[in-house]
Amino acid sequence: MVDLDRINTFIHAFSEEENGAIEELYREAVRDGVPVIRPAAKSFLKVMLDMKKPMSALEIGAAVGYSALYTISHMPGGSHLSTIERDELMIKRAKENISHFGMADRITLYEGDALEVLKTLPDRSYDYIFVDAAKGQYINFLPDVKRLALPGALIITDNIFQDGTIFESRYEVERTDRTIHERIREYLVALKNDNELDTSIIPVGDGMTVSIYNGAVSS
Ligand code: SAH
Ligand code: MG
Repeated sequence: MVDLDRINTFIHAFSEEENGAIEELYREAVRDGVPVIRPAAKSFLKVMLDMKKPMSALEIGAAVGYSALYTISHMPGGSHLSTIERDELMIKRAKENISHFGMADRITLYEGDALEVLKTLPDRSYDYIFVDAAKGQYINFLPDVKRLALPGALIITDNIFQDGTIFESRYEVERTDRTIHERIREYLVALKNDNELDTSIIPVGDGMTVSIYNGAVSS
């Protein structure tokens, strides 16, 4: 069996050079141990964005703002991205980076716990939603994520392989990881069994789900 790291290294070997300044931000984030999207996942997101051409995107989990800046750079002119972050230090760094890249008018940073912030956002507002926060909470975000999605919205979730531990039986997972392990599995089951969502599980980066929201279509 070829392992995920080898697959990702292989995919990454074909990556195109990206805009220099944003790559500097990437290296800085990796150096500081910030869990930014993996290189192999990035080109996948880029293709998704090129296909969808979202005008209004939502991200849960900004960290230093790297994926938000990457995402907005592949969205159409005049589009907007909102992102949510709860960690004080990350909020500070994300704000600095967003204004450093001149994107303060195109990216809104909501400060606070996503579970609360999501509740304040209006129904059917986003055609692209990227979920990249605390994995154990994905299942709790889902009802609001669906409520916020426009018909036909693309909903993408990151890190569903949990560094590969998701493939293990629950008994082999360390106790501390077991709750997250169960929650992610519940989340995958929920996505797959939801008849308003069409979901594919993609083994790129640390594992992603891609769903199309087919609910709320008026007749
Ligand atoms: N999307 C970023 C990486 C995000 S890392 C990138 O690829 O560049 C996950 C981030 O989600 C962390 O900064 C963490 O503080 C934040 N987070 C986790 N759970 C959250 C929650 N419930 N509400 C808001 N932010 C959350
Ligand atoms: Mg991630």
